[in-house]
Amino acid sequence: MSKTVVALVTGGMGGIGSAITLKLAQQGYRVVATYSPSRDPLQAAQWTEQFREQGLDVHAAPVDVTSLESCQSCIEMVESDFGDIGVLINNAGITKDGRLAKMSSDNWQAVIDTNLNSVFNMTQPLINRMVERQSGRVINISSINGQKGQFGQTNYSAAKAGMHGFTMALAQEVAAKGITVNTISPGYIATEMVMAVPEKIREQIIAGIPVGRLGKPEEIAETIAWLCNDNAGFVTGSNIAINGGQHMQ
Ligand code: NDP
Repeated sequence: MSKTVVALVTGGMGGIGSAITLKLAQQGYRVVATYSPSRDPLQAAQWTEQFREQGLDVHAAPVDVTSLESCQSCIEMVESDFGDIGVLINNAGITKDGRLAKMSSDNWQAVIDTNLNSVFNMTQPLINRMVERQSGRVINISSINGQKGQFGQTNYSAAKAGMHGFTMALAQEVAAKGITVNTISPGYIATEMVMAVPEKIREQIIAGIPVGRLGKPEEIAETIAWLCNDNAGFVTGSNIAINGGQHMQ
């Protein structure tokens, strides 16, 4: 890379986000990992230190991905303080599970806002900048449950499926401008979220994964690093499943 490219990773301090941040920083990107309003800014600043100690160019920025205004300010701040954003990883997400019969409108809205509306909020203010520069990578972290649906997750499955609709439409709009847009749909990955599931249920989940184990956050990060590469310029509008063979389309 001749010029430092900034990679913006939403939820970049979470389980999968941390692995993405580390991998992209190791690849030579200046990575800005965003954190949510619920995280202590001091803790976020300390978190970046572990990377700086390894000589990696990692920074932290606050954002509420559910707010368009917050995302606009975040993008302006990142570009003015750190440089042009060449890579956007829409990774922030939450779950609020429950059968539809008992689901509150708040739990529906929060999951749609954080997983799906966030993708509009972060990408819309950035896309014209990428178009002007005639280059960019947008990668949306969806889920296996957006591909196959999941009991108790009408909100999450709808949001994650919607992310890929966004990917396919935007990929067509910006393909001729040197920008690729792709979705990654992880299966069950060994992050805190999944490790908190009772062991017996986790064993049942693993029994349904042909590879016979949970995925690793690093395995998601590897694919992202490849998609960001100049050599992956012909890959756009794809939905890449990384699920150990649990669901095939
Ligand atoms: P984590 O909970 O560790 O990470 C989610 C991140 O989202 C957190 O870092 C959090 O930031 C951020 N976030 C949540 N709400 C907001 C908000 N309003 N504004 C800004 N940031 C917010 O989960 P994972 O690492 O496991 O998941 C990462 C992504 O991968 C998610 O989109 C998830 O749906 C998806 N996924 C995960 C799978 C798994 O098995 N783990 C499987 C399939 C998909 P902070 O930490 O600062 O609060």
